[in-house]
Amino acid sequence: MMRTIFGALFLVAATPVVAQGVSLHAFECGSAPGRDVAMFSDSYGLTGVKKDFIAGCYLIRHPKGMLLWDAGMTPDMIGAAEPVMGWTLKQSIPDRLKALGLTPAQVTHVGISHHHADHSGGARDFPHAELLIGRGDWEALKAMKPDDRPAAQLAHWLTGGGKATPVAGDKDVFGDGSVVMLAMPGHTPGHTVLLVRLASGPVLLSGDQFHFRENREARGVPGFNWNRADTLASHQRFEDIAKNLKARVIIQHDPRDMAQLPAFPAALK
Ligand SMILES: [Zn+2]
Repeated sequence: MMRTIFGALFLVAATPVVAQGVSLHAFECGSAPGRDVAMFSDSYGLTGVKKDFIAGCYLIRHPKGMLLWDAGMTPDMIGAAEPVMGWTLKQSIPDRLKALGLTPAQVTHVGISHHHADHSGGARDFPHAELLIGRGDWEALKAMKPDDRPAAQLAHWLTGGGKATPVAGDKDVFGDGSVVMLAMPGHTPGHTVLLVRLASGPVLLSGDQFHFRENREARGVPGFNWNRADTLASHQRFEDIAKNLKARVIIQHDPRDMAQLPAFPAALK
């Protein structure tokens, strides 16, 4: 029995990762300039500091399907006279996809790094897609009131209208190791990070493991995180993976990281 288990593990580790035909498009799904970021350090490390935030969304194209990773702010914010909770949104995700000649129906999976409302607002435009979200977050969403914003934004799946897969541990989305959700609890109970192994090299999409570069360097822990010890353990896993794979790290809320990716609609391959 143990031999079989170890044999299987060895096979997984030794299998070369197929990256041909995988590409990543990045675009903004919300903007919040000049945010007071004191809340992102529970150690008084960011008092009086302001940062520009964006909500990053990513489309990963794979021969077996298409994954939208995080969905930003809700499309009903477009054209709002005032920012909503400090956020504005210029363009819906379906409108973005038009520039690629794609329709929402071609997106097979919507992966949500965690249940916070700034990561799932555009999901409703992809009702036929399979929702992938960490199991701990799925349970948290189910425990919310239906009109709580995070639950309302994913109501289609929470009420059984669409296929949802709560993910326990890691998940190899397309089965070849090229697109993998990595369990990194702490920010929320089911928080995940996405590894995308492209021909040009591996990329780590941070979820909210970190919110901006300086807080990654400081290993800062937001005061509102679900579990501090789990956050620190996940910080370590993230950095170990980044180092071992020599991965390019994209912090999703940091506009400086978005600016280093090919400008949409161009893709990283
Ligand atoms: Zn966020």
